[in-house]
Amino acid sequence: TPPRNSTAIRDVASVLHPYTDARAHQKNGPLVITRGEGVRVFDDQGKSYIETVAGLWCAALGFHNERLVQAATKQMRQLPFYHGFTGRTHEPQVDLAEMLLERAPVPMSKVFFANSGSEANDSAIKMIWYYNNAVGRPQKKKIISRLKGYHGVTIASASLTGLPYNHKFFDLPIAGILHTGTPHHYHNARPGESEEAFATRLAEELDAMIVAEGPETVAAFFAEPVMGAGGVIIPPATYFEKIQAVLKKHDVLLVADEVICGFGRTGEYWGSQSLGMRPDILTCAKALSSSYLPISAVMVNERVFEGLADGSAGLGTFGHGFTYSGHPVAAAVAVETLKIYDEIDIVGHVKRVAPTMQDGLRALAGHPLVGEVRGMGLIGAVELVADKATHANFDPALKIAPRLVKIAESHGLILRSLPNDSIAFSPPLVITEAEITDMVTRFGAALDELAVTLRRESLAAV
Ligand code: PMP
Repeated sequence: TPPRNSTAIRDVASVLHPYTDARAHQKNGPLVITRGEGVRVFDDQGKSYIETVAGLWCAALGFHNERLVQAATKQMRQLPFYHGFTGRTHEPQVDLAEMLLERAPVPMSKVFFANSGSEANDSAIKMIWYYNNAVGRPQKKKIISRLKGYHGVTIASASLTGLPYNHKFFDLPIAGILHTGTPHHYHNARPGESEEAFATRLAEELDAMIVAEGPETVAAFFAEPVMGAGGVIIPPATYFEKIQAVLKKHDVLLVADEVICGFGRTGEYWGSQSLGMRPDILTCAKALSSSYLPISAVMVNERVFEGLADGSAGLGTFGHGFTYSGHPVAAAVAVETLKIYDEIDIVGHVKRVAPTMQDGLRALAGHPLVGEVRGMGLIGAVELVADKATHANFDPALKIAPRLVKIAESHGLILRSLPNDSIAFSPPLVITEAEITDMVTRFGAALDELAVTLRRESLAAV
C-alpha cells in the first residue's frame, strides 16, 4: 500500500524512524495512528486495532486514562519544570521515590531518575563503576549480560544488549562488557538435557567466565527477569537461584532490568518476585508512568548508596544526571499511575486474567506453524517454526513473522515480531478476559491465513 493520505506522505518525506527499513518504509508508508481507547488504537481511516504489545510493552493502563491527563495538567500548571541538581528538589519526584521504595521487591535505599530504559541502565553502569572506585577496587569494572538480553540502545546499554543488530557497525560491545548464554531451553538445551540440568550448566558457564576474567575484575550481572525483546524467554525455575549463588561467590552485583517486567506484567508486582531475583540495583521505565510521559528509575540498595555517598566525599561529586531527571510532570503522572495500580489491584487483575491469555495461546501449540508457546502473567510469545521436531525456524529471508504481522493488521491486531519468528504478547495490563479472547481468536485466524498463503506458495508443508 502506498502512502494513503497527507500525514503518511509527509511522514515519508520527513521522519527517520527507529528500527525501520527506510527504503521499504518510503515505498510502503506508515500506519498512521491517530487515537487510542482502552486496549485499542485507531488509524486515520477509523479502523481499530487491539494493541497486543501495548505499544512497545508500554501503555499498561491502556491508551486513554483521564486521571493521568488530569495529573499531567495539574502539574503542568503548578510547576511545569524543575530539576534535582545541586540540592534542589520538588514534590512529585520525592513522592515517586518514596512510592517506589515502598514497593521495591527487596529493601532499596535510594532512587535515581532518568527518562528512558537505556538511560536508566547507563546510569546503573556508572553507579557500579563509581561505587567500586569508592570502595577501593577500581579494577572491578567488567559487566556481564546475556545473549538476547535487551537493555537499550545508547552506547553502554546497547553493549549490554545481546542482539547482533545492536552491535553490527557500531564497534560494540565496548570493552569490558561480556555476554553469557541465553536461558532458553527450547533452543539452547542439549538433547535430553532437563530444565534443571540446563540451568546448572548456564550457572557453571557463568562461573567459568568470571573465573577466566578474574573475579576481581567483574563488577555486575545485568538480567531481565523475563527477556522481552529477545523473544519473551522464561528461564528455568531454578535458573536465578543458581546464577545468584555464583554472583555471591564472586561478590558480583545483580542488576534486575524491570523495564518490561515491572508493575505487574509477570503476575507479581515485579518480575524479580516471579523469578526469585534479589537485585542490588533495579531499573524500571515504561509502565512506571504507563508511558504517558517518559520517565525511568534506578533503585539502589543501601550498600551501593553508601559507596556512592562515600565516593562523593572521597572522589568528588558523582558526575552524572540528566536535565530531565525526575521531570515534575512525568513524575506526577507516574505517581498517579502507581496510585491507580493500587486502587484497581493491578497484580490481582493480572493474576485473574492471565490464564485466559496463557491457555488461549497454548491452545495454538498444535498449529502446524507453531513451535513453542511460552509466557507467564500477561507476557507471552508464540514462536513459528519450519520444523516442529528440530525446532528449526524458517529462513529469515522469508520474513515469515513480519508477514504474519501484516496479515494480522487486516484482522484488527497490531502485533510485534521478535527474533526467531516469535510473536510477542504483552497487552495493556487492564485488558479484560473478553478482550483477551477476542485478541487470541483474531490471532488464530491470522495464523490460519498465513498457513494457507504458505501452502499456496509451497513454502511449508502445512
Ligand atoms: N530494558 C528493557 C528490558 C527494554 O525492553 C527496553 C526497551 N524495550 C530498554 C531497556 C530500553 O528502554 P528505552 O527504549 O526506553 O531506552
